[in-house]
Amino acid sequence: MSELQALLRLQTFDTRLDQLIHRRDNLPETERIDELAGSLEAIAGRRVEIATQRHEIERAQKRVEDEVAGIEAKRAEDTDRLYNGGITSPKELTALQDELQSLARHQSTLEDEVLELMEQAEPLDDTLSKFDAKADELEAERGRFEAARTVSLAEIEAEHNAVSADRETAVLSLDEALVVKYQHMRGGAKDGVAVGALTHGVCSACGLGASAVFIDRIRSLGPGEIVNCEECGVILVPAGGA
Ligand SMILES: [Zn+2]
Repeated sequence: MSELQALLRLQTFDTRLDQLIHRRDNLPETERIDELAGSLEAIAGRRVEIATQRHEIERAQKRVEDEVAGIEAKRAEDTDRLYNGGITSPKELTALQDELQSLARHQSTLEDEVLELMEQAEPLDDTLSKFDAKADELEAERGRFEAARTVSLAEIEAEHNAVSADRETAVLSLDEALVVKYQHMRGGAKDGVAVGALTHGVCSACGLGASAVFIDRIRSLGPGEIVNCEECGVILVPAGGA
């Protein structure tokens, strides 16, 4: 293999390494995982709102139920007094009966309030259940995509390691000054392409055909001489039929 052919091979390894890094940084799995994280965050935000409303209803219900319990205790106490024979004054008896009736009415009103609060809570509970089911579904999907991403990253890393090792070997066989020149060109080149093959008069980097005069010039080059594509400037490596 000529020096230039070895350089072209180095370019092939570097291009592959660039592609692998690009693939690693733009995995579709990552995009989906980010989307899912956004959806989960939105659901969590809406869930907090509904849960707060639900909690307020629960607190109101507890307050009314406590009040009902107090009235029930008071009614039990009054009923006891009414029937234990301790009260003999008819006026006092009437007053006690009136109070019992009033307590019963108040309790009934409060019990209606409890029912109403329970009715208000029902759609909120449904909504919370739906949010939770949706969140579970999205979490499961995120888990699947994270597992898939782990596999993809491992594949990319394995290939990257293999190509890097090949690249190291390729560099060792090349002239150091040529590698430095190549690295420098690569740094400023589009897509990091600094070397191209000239096949049937066409540059592999830009796809443009070289002139007959230019091709003659390449054929007459001495060993170690370098020529750049007239169009895109890459180092041209003549391949078969150049
Ligand atoms: Zn070119």
